[in-house]
Amino acid sequence: MVDFSLTDEERQIRDTVRSFIEREVMPLESQVLRNERAGRPGVERDTIRELQLKARRSGFWGVLTPEEYGGMDLGPVMAAIIAMETGRTFVPFQFGGAADNILYFANDEQKQRYLIPTIEGERISCFAITEPGAGSDARSIRSSARRDGGDFVINGEKTFITNGNEADFVMVFAVVPDEGVTCFLVDRDMGWKSEPIPTMGQWGPAALIFENVRVPDENVLGEVGKGFELAMAWIRNGRFMIPARAIGSAERLLQMAIDYANIRKSMGHLIGEYQAIQWQIADSQVEIEATKWLTLYAAWRAEQGLDARHASSIAKLNGAEMANKVVDRVLQIHGGMGYTKELPIERWYRELRLLRIYEGTDEIQRRTIARNLLKGHVRLGGIGE
Ligand SMILES: Cc1cc2nc3c(=O)[nH]c(=O)nc-3n(C[C@H](O)[C@H](O)[C@H](O)COP(=O)(O)OP(=O)(O)OC[C@H]3O[C@@H](n4cnc5c(N)ncnc54)[C@H](O)[C@@H]3O)c2cc1C
Repeated sequence: MVDFSLTDEERQIRDTVRSFIEREVMPLESQVLRNERAGRPGVERDTIRELQLKARRSGFWGVLTPEEYGGMDLGPVMAAIIAMETGRTFVPFQFGGAADNILYFANDEQKQRYLIPTIEGERISCFAITEPGAGSDARSIRSSARRDGGDFVINGEKTFITNGNEADFVMVFAVVPDEGVTCFLVDRDMGWKSEPIPTMGQWGPAALIFENVRVPDENVLGEVGKGFELAMAWIRNGRFMIPARAIGSAERLLQMAIDYANIRKSMGHLIGEYQAIQWQIADSQVEIEATKWLTLYAAWRAEQGLDARHASSIAKLNGAEMANKVVDRVLQIHGGMGYTKELPIERWYRELRLLRIYEGTDEIQRRTIARNLLKGHVRLGGIGE
């Protein structure tokens, strides 16, 4: 039987997260806008850390982290539901106690140096595959890692790396001649440099420069020549979390539009009485609901241990387009006010635009979906299989 309801425990977790976000995180919104508009980071890392520790004291730590590492191990469906809640605010808050999924492929010694300190929030990681000449076409990366004695020497440039300016270490992908793409754990003090890249949003990624950076053999993550699989595992892992977060943002924005349509008058009527406005509100909810169920389905597949790649591509494409349509309508419903910096709509507008680009552009998701159908990897007409 298909069951769309949450268990009591799931509902309780969802409600706890919702009230934590409303009580502790949303009050920072006006400060975030003020700081960003003055050219400063919206919120200091220490503030986020304090909030994470506060959540930890009430038992909220490591949503997807296995219990043996002190996490809650709630699984993909609950993680998606939590992302919907954190997405309701533009304050860049995430619960603590998390580490990149591929760090679990580390050996015991690497786990002590990289995985556990990342979970504890003592070290910050970043993930670097994109290069100036290789974005969607990740297989054509050119950064090289030449063997030299017991070490590797890395040369190359990475671009658009999230957290690249703050990270203590990078999971970087480079080609070992004759052996293939390999992932290396490289501490900043081994010699790589970062340069901030200004963007239209608040996500300030960085370019990373590797000039003869010497990395010992023990810093290979996984196996030499098997890095590409790790890179894809990292990217796929987060794919349905992007639309999940977008659902929270779009619902919050739509509520702003509903509230405004119920108080703003034009030509003697509330604008909410005009069909032109009603249709924008209705279409937005229809699209949000569609993303919600596509996202939960992708998460459910992952939770069941089924192949979630195709479902995640559908959810990510749908969610990125939905969020951009909804924020545009919400801005339109607010008229001139929507375009000002008095309201946060323009800020969401710039942030949500990124969703159509990173972790696989809209075009790459369409390409994946079409190829799976054309090659017969996925057949139409199934439910859950
Ligand atoms: C803010 C931000 C944060 C990021 N964070 C990270 C990070 O942490 N780590 C990391 O490694 N990367 C990161 N990226 C990089 C991101 O994943 C790439 O920008 C993205 O994959 C697209 O690559 P590209 O920019 O080189 O565009 P290109 O690949 O050059 O694409 C240009 C255009 O061509 C289209 N296109 C390309 N190939 C095809 C095709 N075969 N068929 C049809 N259309 C095609 C694209 O969809 C796009 O519209 C980040 C990017 C941004 C903007």
